[in-house]
Amino acid sequence: MISFDLECAQGHRFEGSFCDFEAYAGQLERKLVRCPVCDSPDVKRLYTGCSIQARPSGNAETGAPTPNIFEAIRQFRRYVTMNFEHVGPAFAETARAIHYGQEPERAIYGESTPREIRELGEEGIGVLPVPDIDKLEN
Ligand SMILES: [Zn+2]
Repeated sequence: MISFDLECAQGHRFEGSFCDFEAYAGQLERKLVRCPVCDSPDVKRLYTGCSIQARPSGNAETGAPTPNIFEAIRQFRRYVTMNFEHVGPAFAETARAIHYGQEPERAIYGESTPREIRELGEEGIGVLPVPDIDKLEN
């Protein structure tokens, strides 16, 4: 049994449970997955913004005044988008390839699903959530 975070065209968010990925894809294709609020079959899977950093960067900011949390998040997002490589929906596989040494070590960010993030965590790959990363895409 797997579950996905889903969103309909009206922006209603809900969780759908399926036997496996093929069952999910098949039901979605045949418009059998419907929003529980408005019954829309126009449903897509929600991805969560996330990132990993190659190495801990130390405490260079020690002593700086604590910024407003929203400003801190803005700065964090700006830092990530300017310094990390954007890998898009390939985030989970790229993070895994870096972790297992199949790709050069580097900081990346992209989109993933809550399930993929949990699986990465179980493999010992620490993932840092990036709030609203999709709003940064142009
Ligand atoms: Zn809806």
